[in-house]
Amino acid sequence: MKIIVALIGTALILFGASSVHARSGQKKLGAEPEQAAEADSTQDKVRHGIQPSGLVPNFANDAKCTAIASSYASATRYDGSTRPQTRFGGLHGGIDLTLDEKTPLLAIASGKVIASGVGGRAEGIYIWLQHAPKDTGLPFWTYSKYQHLSALPTPATGDYLKAGDIVGLSGSTGTAGGHYGASGYAHLHLTVLAGSSDQYHQDGSRIIPEGARMIDPLAVFLQGLTNLDDIEVLSESRRNVKIGYAAADGSIHPAGSRTVWPVACK
Ligand SMILES: [Zn+2]
Repeated sequence: MKIIVALIGTALILFGASSVHARSGQKKLGAEPEQAAEADSTQDKVRHGIQPSGLVPNFANDAKCTAIASSYASATRYDGSTRPQTRFGGLHGGIDLTLDEKTPLLAIASGKVIASGVGGRAEGIYIWLQHAPKDTGLPFWTYSKYQHLSALPTPATGDYLKAGDIVGLSGSTGTAGGHYGASGYAHLHLTVLAGSSDQYHQDGSRIIPEGARMIDPLAVFLQGLTNLDDIEVLSESRRNVKIGYAAADGSIHPAGSRTVWPVACK
């Protein structure tokens, strides 16, 4: 019986990985790149790509920034409730920030808009940015997806944004009807994928970069990474990630920071 279950599991993984590869224990690139559809059973087959990073944000003392309400790989939602095991392995494929409706969402790094649209349940209105290594200082490409926007974003596909530019306004699209009730939950869900190049393929609302691997969005703020796998061997002190930010007036702190928190800090 166990063997049959294992075989079925393998078949499902292979099926689910037709366009991406489940991350293996060998740390090769490849993971579920799409957080969005918590309701998409395919996602569940490759949940092993999600592992706690141990990264914690370290905000500047003089800044008041919106904290993370549900961390990457967290088994719980902002309200402490447990995420359903039957969906996405029960682990969070990004970070959530609880926000008022229509809070400006900021580009976490300079980059190009590569997609936006109206997604389904658990996804809502979304926008994807692609960031080159020079945009982040990281030795790989990154792809960020902002979800649950209140309306379709103004920036168009092909537009280039600078770090701190407004990508859209927060909302609760895609959240109503389930755990969050009729009115939903206004928040930003931010997913970040690492990719080995600027090449990707699009499947509906999904962007699947070459060599896709889901990462903790906090990793975008790490300095001096030489390799994606370095995330897993960071010393305790380096897991404390200094977060750059934009102030309400658009100024970037510390000056010259290539990456900023996805909402302005006060
Ligand atoms: Zn989320």
